[in-house]
Amino acid sequence: MNQKELEKIFKFLGRQWQIFAPQLEGDNLAISAVENFAEIDWSGEIPLETWKKFLIPSEERLFVFDSQKSIETLPEIQKNALWGVNVLDLKAITLIDQVFGKDPYYQKRRSNSLLIGYSGGLESDYKKYKVLSHNLEENVLEHLAFDIFIVKLKNGQVKLYSGSRRGQETLDKSGAKDYENIEFAGPVPEKGTDKRMLSLMDKMEKSYGTKIWKDLDKICIACGKCAINCPTCFCFDVVDKSDPKDCSRCRNATTCFYNDFSLVAGGHKELDKVKQKIYFWYAHKFIRIPFEYNLPGCVGCGRCTRVCPVGIKLNDVLAEVGKTKEKKVIVKPIKLKT
Ligand code: SF4
Ligand code: SF4
Repeated sequence: MNQKELEKIFKFLGRQWQIFAPQLEGDNLAISAVENFAEIDWSGEIPLETWKKFLIPSEERLFVFDSQKSIETLPEIQKNALWGVNVLDLKAITLIDQVFGKDPYYQKRRSNSLLIGYSGGLESDYKKYKVLSHNLEENVLEHLAFDIFIVKLKNGQVKLYSGSRRGQETLDKSGAKDYENIEFAGPVPEKGTDKRMLSLMDKMEKSYGTKIWKDLDKICIACGKCAINCPTCFCFDVVDKSDPKDCSRCRNATTCFYNDFSLVAGGHKELDKVKQKIYFWYAHKFIRIPFEYNLPGCVGCGRCTRVCPVGIKLNDVLAEVGKTKEKKVIVKPIKLKT
């Protein structure tokens, strides 16, 4: 398929969906509404903002209360086609799909979002996104949630894949004939649990209370920028509004770095010191998520490192954790009932 044919698909989608894609705005690679095919950025670079803004809004109203009862509010959600989602961000969405699998609010947004992945060449992507030194996994597309996937080949041609029935139907209706269908084989690769993830899980647990976190305690300012910009961070706070004109319950995005995150009645905070907060953030990604979902809680996008105002680099922290040998404390992750 050539570029012209791809543009036809873009135009077809634009009749039913609001298309969002990476676009250069000055020096900034943004994810914004796009009307013209020519505006799309094909560099494959990772935008600083994440696609999660379409799936997990920073504030979501769950119920409104009147004097008698609470009324669930499933809002009308615009139909968005998310065009050009890179492999690492698709991995993040695949993970978040597991976390919010039974959440009707998430599911509604998700079913109104057509996921269109993009790669300028899967192998070159893996070299480029070298944040966690991932190796190119075999059959990577089989383990990603997407509807349509575009690969630009070196000769300028385009290869198309469908990854869902919806993707297949959309491509058929658009007139595209030359595409390959990929059957989703679940989020965990056939080779089983990632060995590096298991080793890191063990070492992260053993590193609790070591100098690594004491040193970070002196540097980290607990601003939460790393978590806000992370495509796999999904923590939220439930907030009741008692304004008579807007009496509602919302869930608002938050981060484990914020002061009231672990605040309970009586003023006690489980995460009081910065070293506790930053350890908790890493432990969530590298112990609890792997334990719960058999997937790494970090996709290696590098955003946390790019945004940290004091220069804390995730890879450096993980390298230090990787040197941990002695068993310090055993904190067994708790399996939560869903
Ligand atoms: S962005 Fe950096 S300083 Fe801010 S909370 Fe994260 S690690 Fe700490
Ligand atoms: S590299 Fe940082 S921002 Fe990206 S997924 Fe991992 S923890 Fe999140």
